[in-house]
Amino acid sequence: MLSEREEQIEADLSTQVAPALHIPDAVRMGVIASSEEHELWLQGHLMGCEGCRAPLIALLLKRTAISVGRPPEIPCAKTRNVMFRYLEGGPDPDDATFVHISSCDLCDDLFFEPAQAVVLKEYEPEHVGEID
Ligand SMILES: [Zn+2]
Ligand SMILES: [Zn+2]
Repeated sequence: MLSEREEQIEADLSTQVAPALHIPDAVRMGVIASSEEHELWLQGHLMGCEGCRAPLIALLLKRTAISVGRPPEIPCAKTRNVMFRYLEGGPDPDDATFVHISSCDLCDDLFFEPAQAVVLKEYEPEHVGEID
């Protein structure tokens, strides 16, 4: 069962052209500034790009080990900047970044939902519980 947003992402994917630069600076800046147009582009990209998805899935698995439930201490913009650095081969996001994404639906939808949607499609149902 796909949400409307996931259907939209899938529709975008089929028309998406591979970027010359991996994630264009305009998208990066747009996402950090919470521009919806750029957020949709990034979600579509993360669903279609194995290279970006692999590190996100690794994070998803790790995230289950971190206890959340405290309010985020850093803003969306800072979190997103850390995540972009990570996707480009930078260091693992710190706890503050994890806490933010875990408690912020916007950032969760942006980075983890696309990766998770692909995982759910690729894996047998009995393995799904290990991911979430
Ligand atoms: Zn990518
Ligand atoms: Zn956020």
